Amino acid sequence: MTTLQVKRINAIITSFNFIDYSRAINLLQSNVHARRIALKIFSLDKDWYSKEEIAILKSLEGNALAKLFPEIVKVEESKGMFSSGKEVWRCECGHTNNLDNSNCSSSTRDKRGFGKKSLKSEEVQEIIIHKTFNFHS
Ligand SMILES: [Zn+2]
Repeated sequence: MTTLQVKRINAIITSFNFIDYSRAINLLQSNVHARRIALKIFSLDKDWYSKEEIAILKSLEGNALAKLFPEIVKVEESKGMFSSGKEVWRCECGHTNNLDNSNCSSSTRDKRGFGKKSLKSEEVQEIIIHKTFNFHS
């Protein structure tokens, strides 16, 4: 085998291991960083799906993913000179925001800690719905 062939096979094996749903399910039970990796794994397309994988995807239909990413920010009273006593939410980055703001005006993170550009649970939920739709037929 040539080096190129070995490299290609390695890439295939790696990508196969990467999209491991049973491992991703375990990641979902873990901390928030692991849960985000799991989101990424479930968002990727596979060439084919085993019965077990289809069952896992179906178990994630509904609001299963949304429940795993609750709002994590704390609501507190503003101590600002002009906004004292007003309720604000404190982002992970430390910045405080008006309750009406869905995203932090400093870091763009939302109340669940998702940045503007990061893969969100509802996006993956959509992807899963599209994937499982094909299995129903
Ligand atoms: Zn922030």
